[in-house]
Amino acid sequence: MYNVKSKKAEEFISHEEILESLKYAKENKNNLELVDEILKKAGEMKGLSHREALVLLLCDDKEKTEEIFKLANDIKLKYYGNRIVTFAPLYLSNYCVNGCIYCPYHNQNKHIPRKKMTQEEIEKEVIALQDLGHKRLALETGEDPVNNPIEYILESIKTIYNIKHKNGAIRRVNVNIAATTVENYKKLHDAGIGTYILFQETYNKESYERLHPTGPKHNYAYHTEAMDRAMEGGIDDVGLGVLFGLESYAYEFTGLLMHAEHLEAVFGVGPHTISVPRIRPADDIDPNTFINAIDDDIFTKIVACIRIAVPYTGMIVSTRESQATREKVLKLGVSQISGGSKTSVGGYAEPSEEAEESAQFDVTDRRSLDEVMNWLMKLDYVPSFCTACYRAGRVGADFMEICKKQQIHNFCHPNALLTLKEYLEDYASPETKTTGEKLIAKEIENIENPTIKEKTIEYLDRISKGERDFKF
Ligand code: SF4
Ligand code: SF4
Repeated sequence: MYNVKSKKAEEFISHEEILESLKYAKENKNNLELVDEILKKAGEMKGLSHREALVLLLCDDKEKTEEIFKLANDIKLKYYGNRIVTFAPLYLSNYCVNGCIYCPYHNQNKHIPRKKMTQEEIEKEVIALQDLGHKRLALETGEDPVNNPIEYILESIKTIYNIKHKNGAIRRVNVNIAATTVENYKKLHDAGIGTYILFQETYNKESYERLHPTGPKHNYAYHTEAMDRAMEGGIDDVGLGVLFGLESYAYEFTGLLMHAEHLEAVFGVGPHTISVPRIRPADDIDPNTFINAIDDDIFTKIVACIRIAVPYTGMIVSTRESQATREKVLKLGVSQISGGSKTSVGGYAEPSEEAEESAQFDVTDRRSLDEVMNWLMKLDYVPSFCTACYRAGRVGADFMEICKKQQIHNFCHPNALLTLKEYLEDYASPETKTTGEKLIAKEIENIENPTIKEKTIEYLDRISKGERDFKF
């Protein structure tokens, strides 16, 4: 039975509720009166229920679809302006005891090189990432209690935060590791992580069990209830995601929004971010795994409808997507992207073929971070390395409160300019620096509050003289 507040996976992600929502949305998808009503509600920019959002997703009326895209863009501008937060993934280890059939790290794959970085190797990788200009990392590992125990993850986080190399610093470490216990989530919280990210992969229990035939990840309930345990363990910011292409996209979209509604209902705060990865070819993966693959048109509509349904939740797109696709979805609601990424264990400090062979998936956007920065700025976006909220304690419910009042802009915009300035001073190519300086000069004029504007100008000047790490 569907119960948004239940702590049981099969009740807050009720299969029956998803099927009923799908039936309702299919019957009403071109009921233009209803679609207009939903769009009117969405125009208030306070979000939609999973059923309402699903009607928009399935609606195939051309004009309404254009309205959906326009509204997603308006919401994006209202809540996030033209800023794009940038980060990089860091794979610590690809040892894994699970059997996920869509991932080359599955334990039956005997020919992929297995690697676990030592603390010295992590230090080298992080220095290389700092030298690119990164300030935010997403840590990734396979699940393996012997090779990658929680102690290893905690030690690695400590190593990363302690590396001070030139003007570099990793100021926010987000963590994407397997579902674990409340006790371990407490340890991650105490280690000062930013967001805890865990992709559901698929919300359909039957498909989930088939796609995860062996290992601890086979347990659907334990995996699906992980975010509840993370929040009970004190982690304020959690990141959801599904791997689009495993199941029907409409089913996943509904499950994803129901999960967000559940967290909001139980903890008073929804997910901090939602990621939208699409399945990609990889080593030792059966192409039949791709039968539900979605094309760009559906993908962009999913992004737009998520933006409309949960306006205050950040949305992430990785280098799995091409430059062209990323360009499309930036307009529709994506607020964070990775850049210059390696999806292998090691490879930032010493790129090599061997390192590439240990990659989790093929990267489509292979541009360097500097190229990505230049590209964003030429499209009139302000790339940001900001990590201020988490370091100022603006997390969880406090953060959402500011977001819902549409006030986060007052922090994000000047912080984006300050962190961009740091990047330009320390890491940018001459061309990117010229583009960036022009952009900053223009964007300063868009700071409405005179006190913040004055302070930003002062901080920018001090950054050019060598000081670092100013934030609002
Ligand atoms: Fe292991 Fe994660 Fe890959 Fe599954 S998706 S095989 S848990 S690394
Ligand atoms: Fe993110 Fe907060 Fe920085 Fe805005 S001010 S970019 S919400 S960390």
